[in-house]
Amino acid sequence: MTRSILDTPAQYVKGVGPTRAASLARLGIQKVEDLLYHVPRRYVDRSQIRAIRDLSVGEHETFVGKVLTHGLHRRKSGEPVFHLAVTDGTGVITCKWFNQPYLARVFKAGEEYAFSGDVSYYRGFVMLHPEYEKSQDIDQLLHTGRVVPIYRLTEGVSQKQMRRIVSNALDMALATIEETLPDEILRRRDLQSLREALGEVHFPKSQQDGENARRRLAFEELFYLELLLAMRKSKLAAPRIGVRYSEGGLLVEKLLDRLHFDLTAAQERAFSEISNDMRSEYIMGRLLQGDVGSGKTIVAVLAVLLAVESGFQAALMAPTEILAEQHHLVLKELLEGMDLKVVLLVGKMSKKEKERAYHLLESGEGSIAVGTHALIEEDVHFKSLGLVVVDEQHKFGVLQRAKLRRKGFSPDFLVMTATPIPRTLSLTVYGDMDVSVIDELPPGRKEVITRVVEEEKREKVYGFIREEVAKGRQCYVVYPIIDESEKLDLKAAQDEHERLRGEVFKDLCVGLLHGKMKPVEKETSMQDFRKGRTDILVSTTVIEVGVDVSNATVMLIEHAERFGLAQLHQLRGRIGRGGERSVCVLMSGRATSPEARDRLKALAGTTDGFKIAELDLKIRGPGEFFGTRQHGLPELRTADLAGDSRILVSARDEAFRLFKEDPQLLKESSRKVRQVFLSRYKESLELVGAG
Ligand code: ADP
Ligand code: MG
Repeated sequence: MTRSILDTPAQYVKGVGPTRAASLARLGIQKVEDLLYHVPRRYVDRSQIRAIRDLSVGEHETFVGKVLTHGLHRRKSGEPVFHLAVTDGTGVITCKWFNQPYLARVFKAGEEYAFSGDVSYYRGFVMLHPEYEKSQDIDQLLHTGRVVPIYRLTEGVSQKQMRRIVSNALDMALATIEETLPDEILRRRDLQSLREALGEVHFPKSQQDGENARRRLAFEELFYLELLLAMRKSKLAAPRIGVRYSEGGLLVEKLLDRLHFDLTAAQERAFSEISNDMRSEYIMGRLLQGDVGSGKTIVAVLAVLLAVESGFQAALMAPTEILAEQHHLVLKELLEGMDLKVVLLVGKMSKKEKERAYHLLESGEGSIAVGTHALIEEDVHFKSLGLVVVDEQHKFGVLQRAKLRRKGFSPDFLVMTATPIPRTLSLTVYGDMDVSVIDELPPGRKEVITRVVEEEKREKVYGFIREEVAKGRQCYVVYPIIDESEKLDLKAAQDEHERLRGEVFKDLCVGLLHGKMKPVEKETSMQDFRKGRTDILVSTTVIEVGVDVSNATVMLIEHAERFGLAQLHQLRGRIGRGGERSVCVLMSGRATSPEARDRLKALAGTTDGFKIAELDLKIRGPGEFFGTRQHGLPELRTADLAGDSRILVSARDEAFRLFKEDPQLLKESSRKVRQVFLSRYKESLELVGAG
């Protein structure tokens, strides 16, 4: 069996052993196959071997030479320095290493080595910490004299060791690699074979060959991912029995009448797409995308009413309790007098309160549920759940959807997000959904002015806040707490609150809001701010999504450099909601790097959410951008969502085409694909219930 070689634990590859295997495991490398797919981060071109005489200072160069002399001495600090004098007949160069005295036992005078490194000049050519390799046979060189792979590493494995290990794994397993893509696709897309690609990606002849090989691997990876999405999409869109939405839309009309504004054209379009979906015999899977403040909530509420008046229950899920509570309030206000029971369910409610909520939902008496994850917990049973609205989905996942399905419901899904999703991501993370976009803001909004400010200007900023408050406006001061369980960060926010309340703004009303507060405290704090009883709200990122206070016109974000751009954009969307001029101040810490500051300036320069998201994706990569794993999607090993959008689109075309031609993958020509697909995604299929 050929698989068995690929499945062999990495430990048994020459050069690994138990200790190093544990290190490799930290990189996600468990078996031989993982080593083959541990593609280099980049390459260094050491293919040009130069005469020492021709070396250029400041360049990364490779040369081959004989050791003339070597020696070990200590600097005044006690640090050992090992140095070699090397010649190739055209000149002499000194190679130096700090803190590696064992090298004295490695090199012998008269022996020949290849060296690669950056050339500098100090009383002659010098190379600090070059990579080296014995040069018996130039063709066999792994580390120098060729295009050399640079890998992602972990403690306990050096670059050279990794190269050696991967090379050994290739020797062991490359011949057993079988093709994973149908010939037809290989031909049509002009792709090399998998075996070729796996060899080339590690040890290519040129950097371009290496990149081409990586793209072939990325194509394959994305092809199978898109095939999974194709299946999921078809499953989602399966006809559903017995769900009929009424045509009337009485409640919908009633709500529209009662609003003090008209829907924007974009809101109307989005709602009509949604109601078409809901009224059709297929299950809806729709993403409602719209920048912060574009008015997604009202569209969602209309969808909720449509479900309710057709005799179904609807659930609205929010990522935080604060937001759930806010939605609850908004709904109660909007639906006042409609004789609908809105049930709040959040994790921190007392047992008794929860039990009451369960009862209301199970009996059907409660027609609308609002809450956090708690809504899909085991104890919650709905009588007739017809619609689930998920707000700010990026904190939710595919898995939750599957969970609901397992409870016997196949509700319509409406997923709202303010994070503009770069196309590559929407084709993967949300590849199984239809998309509605709200691409205009309600009339009368003013663009938020954003300024990047440094510590020295702090007093000025406080002065500005004071002026705004004097005009009757309110202000947010946001503290970066990446993880609410980080005690230190939380302490910083609390201290800041104390300082602002007790010293800086003694005469003003300064509130506090963070995730670790008790629900009642949070609610009071939010209410106070909403009602204008507090002037300044010191807060963590719990206000990131959805909090809606139109009188707030200033936001001061502390340590802005610690946030991602998309997140800053979200935060900034909390102001500029009332038609007043609003200002967002990004305070960057003293230690902010120039790059980070440039990033902030880029944010200040645009309010185009898509541009920002693309930028963020490039900088941070998709993992952080979204936490792909949360979505129940497999982690990508070779594809780079920020850069591979063209490959993604062609892989998607091929996958959807194949799925259309042969949805069950039963044709003889699909046999290979079927095998690979099942071996890779069996688990995912079960999880998302698309099997
Ligand atoms: P988001 O898309 O960020 O969730 P919201 O739904 O919270 O935005 O809406 C932001 C604010 O705009 C709310 O106060 C809402 O009442 C208001 N709003 C929504 N639609 C309109 C509209 N068509 N005209 C005027 N104001 C609107
Ligand atoms: Mg919202």
